[in-house]
Amino acid sequence: MKMPSTVFIHGTAYDVQYKVMSDQGETHLDRQIIYINPDYPERFQKVTLIHEVLHVLLHQKNSYLPETFKYIDDTDLREHLIINTFDWPLFEVLEQNPVLRGWLWG
Ligand SMILES: [Zn+2]
Repeated sequence: MKMPSTVFIHGTAYDVQYKVMSDQGETHLDRQIIYINPDYPERFQKVTLIHEVLHVLLHQKNSYLPETFKYIDDTDLREHLIINTFDWPLFEVLEQNPVLRGWLWG
């Protein structure tokens, strides 16, 4: 299956495009664009898209998690402590539970 060209996050359409770069992914909140590095295996690209969606969610007005962790000065570290808790683990839970996936979206 092809990578989606658009993802809707809280009603806002984000373009999803391939881009060769040093990172696995990149999100431009101001332009609503998510870049995915095609040089990584597809499995990594999928997790990267989840990772980038989580970045967007953390920047929603009603996101309280960054506020909760504001004692961590490094904002990039703070954001990734939260995101890395969920990106691969969430992907693997969904991957390993087809019955759950079917119940959620079947
Ligand atoms: Zn990140």
